[in-house]
Amino acid sequence: MRVLVTGGAGFIGSAVVRYLVLEKGYEVLTVDKLTYAGTLTSLKAVDNQQNHRFLKADICDRMAIAEAFESFKPQRVMHLAAESHVDRSITGARDFVETNVIGTFNMLECARTFWSALPMDEREAFRFLHVSTDEVYGSLGEEGLFTEETPYDPSSPYSASKASSDHLAKAWARTYGLPVVVSNCSNNYGPYHFPEKLIPLMILNALDGKPLPVYGNGTNIRDWLYVEDHARALDVIAERGRIGETYNVGGRNERRNIDVVERICALMDKLHPAGAPHARLITHVTDRPGHDARYAIDATKLEEELGWKAQENFDTGIEKTVAWYLENRWWWEPLRAGYSGTRLGLIEPKKATA
Ligand code: NAD
Repeated sequence: MRVLVTGGAGFIGSAVVRYLVLEKGYEVLTVDKLTYAGTLTSLKAVDNQQNHRFLKADICDRMAIAEAFESFKPQRVMHLAAESHVDRSITGARDFVETNVIGTFNMLECARTFWSALPMDEREAFRFLHVSTDEVYGSLGEEGLFTEETPYDPSSPYSASKASSDHLAKAWARTYGLPVVVSNCSNNYGPYHFPEKLIPLMILNALDGKPLPVYGNGTNIRDWLYVEDHARALDVIAERGRIGETYNVGGRNERRNIDVVERICALMDKLHPAGAPHARLITHVTDRPGHDARYAIDATKLEEELGWKAQENFDTGIEKTVAWYLENRWWWEPLRAGYSGTRLGLIEPKKATA
């Protein structure tokens, strides 16, 4: 099995690549531009594997992507490359539109050109998995879950750009017959998560004795999924998902942000007692503009139709994650040194943001 993975040097992409190369024994071509969010150190575990190759390329670059299809001849594409940080999208949305919308369009067109020229049996077996987020569905109230039928209602420039790419992916299935499957997943956490995201930021700030900035009152709810569970889900969806369908991916682990941060503090007290009690570092800061109140995924379709189930619950996954960051300074220290930590995503009146 030859799989082309875009965004494979990022957080989820690298978990997918490690899983496919090391556990499934597939041949994998990772295509990644290596933006601030991508690093080859996340792929160290597959460095010397014969069944892995890396190509530094921008998914918007038509020539480079077309050439990657022609030379690697993938049987599957798993498209994860994206700009992914909501706060960054509020401060400047251009990269999000370029990579998430134009880049996805380019991936679909290059895939279609390659796929159209395949013999019939290979055309039928080919799959293009477009990886997306539950944020396309907007915000939930206190009750209810996002299903595959929930109407799209994105709030941030990030989620709007992902919603747009989902529509393109489905249109390429309906209009051109490209065998596309779409997945929409809840918030991921785990090893190799870039230090600007909530969970690694809290672990590393706690380690440094720095304030733990919680947006607003901390009552916004996210549905957390351990990244390796997501990687397994994506493989199952790419393998057995029905063409043109959407599959929601989630771990049934809803938590308020403040509870996540308090749990991390408790684990830090246990695993790194020097700074205890770490909860004294919690600081409430100005809320994110347009901050969605609650996300929660109904993953019944994926569980019942394709037989996937999350293996980690939040308590087991978060303990593994805190321990991983404490043991893997080599990975995050250079990234943290190169990242200013400045608060992004606050709107300054009278300033253009484009
Ligand atoms: P990430 O920011 O950690 O990684 C993105 C990767 O894409 C990086 O390696 C980056 O270098 C690469 N990239 C960015 N622009 C590129 C371009 N123009 N050409 C080639 N490569 C480019 O993101 P992530 O958290 O791993 O998310 C991966 C995918 O999963 C995204 O599509 C995201 O929307 C989706 N998703 C993420 C979450 C989450 O909780 N993180 C949840 C659901 C869905």
